Amino acid sequence: MKRIYMDHAATTPLAPEVLEAMIPYFSKRYGNPSSLHSFGREAREAVDDARTEVAALLNAEPSEIYFTSGGTESDNLAIKGIARKNKKKGRHIITTSIEHPAVLEVCKALTREGFEVTYLPVTREGLVEIGAVEEAVREDTILISVMHANNEIGTIQPLEEIGRLAGEKEIYFHTDGVQTAGKIPVDVNSLGLDAFSLSGHKLYGPKGAGALYKRKGVRIESIQQGGGHERGMRSGTENVPGIVGLGRAARIAEENMAVESERMRSLQDRMRGWVLKNIEESWLNGHPVKRLPSNLNFGFRYIEGESLLLYLDAKGVAASTGSACSSKKLAASHVLSAIGLSPVESHGSLRITLGMANTEEEVDYACRAIFDSVKRLREMSAMRPE
Ligand SMILES: *Cc1c(COP(=O)(O)O)cnc(C)c1O
Repeated sequence: MKRIYMDHAATTPLAPEVLEAMIPYFSKRYGNPSSLHSFGREAREAVDDARTEVAALLNAEPSEIYFTSGGTESDNLAIKGIARKNKKKGRHIITTSIEHPAVLEVCKALTREGFEVTYLPVTREGLVEIGAVEEAVREDTILISVMHANNEIGTIQPLEEIGRLAGEKEIYFHTDGVQTAGKIPVDVNSLGLDAFSLSGHKLYGPKGAGALYKRKGVRIESIQQGGGHERGMRSGTENVPGIVGLGRAARIAEENMAVESERMRSLQDRMRGWVLKNIEESWLNGHPVKRLPSNLNFGFRYIEGESLLLYLDAKGVAASTGSACSSKKLAASHVLSAIGLSPVESHGSLRITLGMANTEEEVDYACRAIFDSVKRLREMSAMRPE
C-alpha cells in the first residue's frame, strides 16, 4: 500500500540536499568549532555559513542568530532569558491562549518565579485582536510573545500591528515562528520583532537543531551555563551536522518559497473545496484567508477524530487530530477550545498539513479516503441523531 504523509506540521522529512550537506560533518569533518587547528576552523566556517543562511531567511544579521536544539529551546531561551534579565523593569508578560506548550509551559513556570502572565483570547478564526493587546499592556509589561502562525489551525497573526505597538511602548516582542519560517516570508524588521524562534525539523532540516533570532541590544540572559558557546548565549559544543543541515534547509526554503507556497495554496484550495462540498456537516477551523498555505483543519460532526485518524492510517494517509503533542492526551485541544468549539466539536477535528512531496493525485486520494472513512464512521456512530 502506498503511504501518503500529510502531517508536516508535526515534522518534515529531510530534504535530500540537506542530508547530503550534513554527511561530511558526521564523518571526516568532525572538528570542534572551538578548536584552533584546521579541523576546528573547518567546523567553525561551516557553522558561520549556516548562520548567514538562517539570517538571510529572516532578513536579520548573522550576529543576531544563535543556534539551539530546536523550537522548544528557542522559546525557553527567549522568554525566560528576557523575563529574568528585565525583571527590575517589570514582571508582566503578555501571550495568547493558543500558543504551543513550549511557550505556555514556560510562562506557567515563570509565574512560580513571581512573573504575571496575561493570556489573550482569540476570535473564532483564531486571530489575536490588536485592541486586546493594547488593553492588556501595563506599566510593568516587559514582554509580548505571540506566535506567528498556529500549528493546529494555521491562522497567521497580525504581527506587524502588534510589533508597532510593542515598539511604541518599548516592550520586547517575541514570536514563535516555528510554523512560518521557510513557509511564508519573514522580515524581523518590518514585523518589529526582538526575538524569533525557529526549528530545523519543521522546514525539511534535521531534528534537534533550531535557532533563536535576537535583535542586537535586546537584554537577555542565558538559561544554560558552561563554556560560553554561541557568544555566551548557549553553552555546549555546537551540533555541527545539525547546524549545517539547518542552514542548508533555510537556504533551500528561501529559494523555493514563492513557487512552493503557491503550490501549497492550490493543493489546499483543492482539498478544502472538495471536502466541504462533498462531506455534509463539515467545516474548516481557523481563518479562511489568513492561514498557512499548507494547513487544513477540518471539523466533522458526529465523528471522533482519533477513530478517523486510524481509518485514514489504514488507508495509508498520515494526518493528525489536534496537534501531535496533545494527541496522546485525551483532553480537548486548547486551541480548538480557545476558538470556541465545544469539546464534542473539537474531538471531531482532523489536521492535514501538506508538504513538498504531496501532489494533486495524493490530495485526491486523501479526499476520497476522508470521505469513505467519515461515511463509515457515521454509519456506526452512536453520536448521530435518529
Ligand atoms: C514544533 C513546534 C515547536 C517545538 O519545536 P521543536 O523543535 O520540536 O522543539 C514549537 N512551536 C511550534 C509552533 C511548533 O509547531
